[in-house]
Amino acid sequence: MEEHDRKRLPILVVLTATPFHGHMTPTLQLATALHAKGFSIAVAHSKLNPPNPSNHPPDFTFLPLFDTLLAIDHSGSFTNFINTINTECRASFKEHLTRLISEGNKRIVVIYDNLMFFAASVAIELNLAAIIFRSCSAAYFPAFFVRQQLHQQNRFLEQDFVMQDIVPNHHPLRYKDLPFAQSSIEDWRQLGVIFSKQAHPSAVIWNTIRSLEDESLAKVKEHYQVPVFAVGPLHKITPSPQTNFLKEDISCITWLDKQAPKSVVYISFGSLVTLDAKVLTEMAWGLANSNQRFLWAVRPGSVSGHEWLEFLPEGFLEETKERGLIVKWAPQKEVLAHFAVGAFWSHCGWNSILECMSEGVPMICQPFTADQWVNVRYVSYVWKIGLELEVFERGEVECMIRRLMADKEGEQIRIRVNDMKEMAKQAVEIGGISRESLADLVNFILSC
Ligand code: UDP
Repeated sequence: MEEHDRKRLPILVVLTATPFHGHMTPTLQLATALHAKGFSIAVAHSKLNPPNPSNHPPDFTFLPLFDTLLAIDHSGSFTNFINTINTECRASFKEHLTRLISEGNKRIVVIYDNLMFFAASVAIELNLAAIIFRSCSAAYFPAFFVRQQLHQQNRFLEQDFVMQDIVPNHHPLRYKDLPFAQSSIEDWRQLGVIFSKQAHPSAVIWNTIRSLEDESLAKVKEHYQVPVFAVGPLHKITPSPQTNFLKEDISCITWLDKQAPKSVVYISFGSLVTLDAKVLTEMAWGLANSNQRFLWAVRPGSVSGHEWLEFLPEGFLEETKERGLIVKWAPQKEVLAHFAVGAFWSHCGWNSILECMSEGVPMICQPFTADQWVNVRYVSYVWKIGLELEVFERGEVECMIRRLMADKEGEQIRIRVNDMKEMAKQAVEIGGISRESLADLVNFILSC
């Protein structure tokens, strides 16, 4: 019997999916993993960026929520966006849950993304268990609180600290590694208010590996005082459903097939980051001057003031046409698993790190916002599986690509990241720590 054909357990797990790609993907992976364990699944989602039901088993239920959001405003306030979604979606979520309860044939457990925290308060109001799901690194969690505390004390990063200094009691983080470097004071004030309103979860699920983030997970446990389940990397626990908001350009795989092993630098800055054209000009020339082969995923609209590739400096496409390919959206997991890929130049979103580590690919790290600063510190300084690009200047870029692709230093990094690949592989095998943690989560849900 296929796992999805097995008899359903008498519990319906209702998950909330946010309109952010990097949150929705692991949420749907978790839904798939729990479905394979026998739970019935419902996915509540915003009208903005809804999941496509045809990519999921036919017995998944989709619960559209009411929101008026039309797009993620990259230049607008993140906190306003979160406030709006939490205010607008609450009533429709409560209606759905009330109806499901009245139908009465299954017990209900809610698993909510941390940005959709309205779901926890509704669940608690209706006497249901509410489990929080986090799709960032566990290391980000304590770092976020440090940043918030500094703000409450009216202390500001650049003004009050030497950015290269280690934050006391938070080794290895330096002040420059603390999250949301670009957020305004008002954003921090609002974030403080938002998070102080959140209901307390019955348990915590984290898309990470315990052996990778043991210390940070201990801090999570200390904070919440409830069971914590580290079940990552989720994309390796279960066959990943298709979750892309943009169409994947699979022609790049045919192009990769023709390249030599480990000869290509794959470049992508995820689904959200907006880049500055001046920085990109330096990146482009550094890349061209390195003489290295590359596959570059450039999301339309991801460069301020440009629709797609108009930001590229004159002569770049001509100069690199024999050794480079640019696409709008790549099948990233497949790309990273390809024999031709030798390095990943990334903004270091947590999904990208897990996907990259799971395939043993070294990284060039270029953080832009939010948790990416914290993640980069761990990738480059603690796990030593990547190099941090700190100066956006063509000579520096060229040198970094060579260090990783051609030097002894790159070979050492490759050995370490291959060890991590093995660790990730073992974690999700039968008897592995993440798979065991998933089994514990199943028992926890059954006991709710
Ligand atoms: N991704 C992709 N194709 C691309 C760029 C990104 O499939 O061309 C996927 C990538 O595999 C990852 C997600 O988008 O799962 C990005 O998530 P991440 O947490 O790394 O960054 P975010 O987009 O949240 O900043």
